[in-house]
Amino acid sequence: MFTPAELLEINQLLIPENKIVILTHYNPDGDAIGSSLGLKHYLRAKGIEAEVVTPNDFPKFLKWMPEAKKNIIGEYKRKVAFDLINDADVIFCLDFNSPSRIGLLGDWLMRAKAKKILIDHHQQPEDFDFVYSDTIIPATCQMIYHFIEAMDDENLVNKEIAECLYTGIMTDTGGFRFRSTSADTHRIVANLIEKGADPSVITSNTWDTNTVSRLHLLALVLGRIEVVNDGTVAVLSLTRKELQEYGFQKGDTEGFVNYGLSIVGVKMSAFFMEDLYEDFIKISFRSKDDVDVNQFSRKYFNGGGHINAAGGRSDESLPDTIETFKKRLEEENL
Ligand code: 5GP
Ligand code: MN
Repeated sequence: MFTPAELLEINQLLIPENKIVILTHYNPDGDAIGSSLGLKHYLRAKGIEAEVVTPNDFPKFLKWMPEAKKNIIGEYKRKVAFDLINDADVIFCLDFNSPSRIGLLGDWLMRAKAKKILIDHHQQPEDFDFVYSDTIIPATCQMIYHFIEAMDDENLVNKEIAECLYTGIMTDTGGFRFRSTSADTHRIVANLIEKGADPSVITSNTWDTNTVSRLHLLALVLGRIEVVNDGTVAVLSLTRKELQEYGFQKGDTEGFVNYGLSIVGVKMSAFFMEDLYEDFIKISFRSKDDVDVNQFSRKYFNGGGHINAAGGRSDESLPDTIETFKKRLEEENL
């Protein structure tokens, strides 16, 4: 948590006269959108307005969240996003650890005059004016709750805040399954339910939203899972042509990589997907126990994340990327 002196300073910055912007990472997920909107609704409960800016668009299954549709999407509204960042007095940076994770907005953020406040659970955070980083905590949404507690404002938590924070905790823990899910997590979730978050409604809004395109793509991916490295590594992939053929929509491939990890004996799963528009391969890594995909992706695939969940990218072709990946596995003795 921030130190008491930092909390005091932050409290002094949170006044209606100050322009406040909340930023989150590229390809926002449930935790990114949940923490941003949760914080926005918390600030509003304190009488302060803030704008949420995301680098690019986010999946439909997150747009049910209160005021999600008011988010400013940088890729569609560049000028508005630039002005907000440039004119801000305070910028909250949520669920990312480096300006490089927010695309074009990163340059604007670095040049902005605002005080920058980081709240994030990824490994190796970069420098910001105020840093609350904790890689043990499973979701940034949980950290927003701890921040509200530290500000002595738990009584302000309302249904909107509760719904947003519940969603991010649920998605980033894989439905309260991942290793980092703690008793603290469950205590907070219990509080959020008491404040109005309805688990069945949130689960159904977020997860029971399959599109036909998603299921067809899933069938295709599952049909060709390859297990390499003596049965310890699963490889999944999709080409741009396939995405186009099946009518891919943003978010359709969310969670595919987890199927690889569910195979008995597999310790690492990697999902390679050609970008729909640009010539690069987006990679998702998941792992078990002490297999560190954050380090692996940082070292070889220009990425990072958490020990057991990370992302990366490659500028080689899809087959070459997968070949390179297999060679790196050998080099690392994974
Ligand atoms: P996903 O595979 O779901 O895209 O990402 C898994 C985790 O790694 C998320 O916490 C995400 O924020 C992080 N991540 C994804 N892609 C990148 C990347 O290119 N660079 C870094 N540093 N982190 C990433
Ligand atoms: Mn997160």
